[in-house]
Order: sequence, then C-alpha cells, then structure tokens
Amino acid sequence: MPIAFDFTGKTVFITGAGSGIGRATAEAFAAAGADVAVTGPTEAPLRETARLVETQGQRAHTVLCDVTDSQNVEDAVASAVDVLGPIDIGVNNAGIEQPPKPLAETSEEEWDRLIAVDLRGVFVSMKQEILAMPESGGSIVNISSGAGVIGIKGQAAYAAAKHGILGMTKSAALDYAAQGIQINAICPGIIETPMMDRFSGDTPEGRARVIAQEPIGRMGTPEEIAAAVLWLCSDLGGFTIGHSLVVDGGQTIGIS
Ligand code: NAD
Repeated sequence: MPIAFDFTGKTVFITGAGSGIGRATAEAFAAAGADVAVTGPTEAPLRETARLVETQGQRAHTVLCDVTDSQNVEDAVASAVDVLGPIDIGVNNAGIEQPPKPLAETSEEEWDRLIAVDLRGVFVSMKQEILAMPESGGSIVNISSGAGVIGIKGQAAYAAAKHGILGMTKSAALDYAAQGIQINAICPGIIETPMMDRFSGDTPEGRARVIAQEPIGRMGTPEEIAAAVLWLCSDLGGFTIGHSLVVDGGQTIGIS
C-alpha cells in the first residue's frame, strides 16, 4: 500500500528555514500540500526557500525572525497567522554550532550564545506556536541532535542545549497531549548541510572524519530528516508523543 502524506490546508511555521534541514522540510511540507511560514535571520536564503515552496504550488510567507529575540518570534508568528492562518505545525530547527573546544576553554559568552539560539530559541518558538494553534490542536517537532543523546568531545554547550531540548520536549508533550497538541523531537546524525560543511571544513579529509562516525558509511540528507518530520506530524504519527526520534545512520547506537 503506498503511503502519501497529505497536509492540504495546513500551515507550517519553520525556524531557520533558509538552509539545510529547515529548507528541505519547507519544501517537503509544500510538496505534501501545506503552506509554509519560512523564517530565519537573513532575507536572501529565505527568498530561495520561499521560491521552492511556491514551485510546489503552495503559499510561502517569508518573515525575518531571530529566535534569540522573543518579541521578534512573537511578531513572526503573528504575521504568519495573519497571512496563512493558525499554526498547525511548528518545526523548531534554528541552530548554531561552535568550533570544538574543551569545556574550561569555552567562554561564558560562547555558552550563552549557543544556549540562546539552540535551547532558549526552541522554548520561545514553542511558546508562540502553541498559543497560535487552532483549538483542534497541532504538532510540534524540535530538532535536537545525536548530541542530545550522547556526549561529544569538545561540544559541552551544544550537547547541553540538545539534551535540554529533549527534556523540554517530553515535559511540554505531557502539558499538551490531552489538548491534541503533539510534541516530539528528532535527533539527526551527520547530515549534509551548510552546518556540517562548516564543521567538517568541507575538505575531503574533514568529510572523511565525520563520515567515520557513521556506521552506515555516509552522511544523511536533509530530505531524510524532513521525511521523519512529516511522518511525526501526519495522522500516521498521531500516537507518538514526547518521543526523541533518532535518525542518525547508527551514529549513537554504540561502539562499532
Ligand atoms: P544550517 O546551518 O543549514 O541551518 C541552521 C539554520 O538556523 C540556518 O538557516 C540559520 O540561518 C538558522 N539560524 C541560526 N541562528 C539563528 C537565529 N538566531 N534565529 C533564527 N534562525 C537562526 O544547518 P542544519 O544542519 O540544517 O541545522 C538545522 C538544525 O539541525 C540545527 O538545529 C542543528 O543543530 C541540527 N542538527 C544538524 C546536524 C547536521 O549534521 N547537519 C546534526 C544534528 C542536528
């Protein structure tokens, strides 16, 4: 039996939609019939994502939104509701990485910046999305990481933020399950995106180094993460609550 996702009539709000996983998720939702609020901190990449959404025949609403600024997030959600209608689905994907360094060499400014984007940004985005959902409910997917389920050398702040997302997701899922708001998280492995290009240096040696972490022997694609997001938000994923869905090529399952 072929299984197709149908998000006709739904509005999706995506943070960090100008590249990588956010962009692929916007395009996948549009291909399945949804309209998409395409949000992020800089305009040009958002315009390209919006074009991809419109190419699928759906409406795209481009809004500048820096998730470290809660007023900015509130305004972006309000603007999306004005143009596209209540938020049925929120995908909290915005994130930054930092060059690896031991914890004691991480400055408080670096720590604060990473937590502000990768953890607090998810909190403020969830808050506004929940308030903007229709009475019938909705779905939220937070993008964590393999660093949400294991420690990674040199990545204390990133791992703290990504572990934090999972605790917040489980707790908020309990807060809202009875109201029909389903909240889950995805933990991607090594995914071929601009973030991974920066992290690996995008050199053959750097790419080989990160691929060596993957038992499957390759990087994942943003589309493979988008597919998991769509499944969680579809009727087929409707019984999945507060889950941390690891989509990682085997990166975090053990020592190989
Ligand atoms: P990416 O750099 O292409 O995407 C990150 C997006 O977040 C960018 O579009 C960027 O503009 C946006 N962003 C950064 N700061 C922001 C801010 N203050 N406000 C709003 N948006 C902001 O990289 P990606 O790999 O697509 O990352 C998406 C998410 O996936 C991130 O949360 C990242 O931590 C997570 N992730 C990525 C990987 C990977 O291997 N690529 C693995 C695990 C988790």
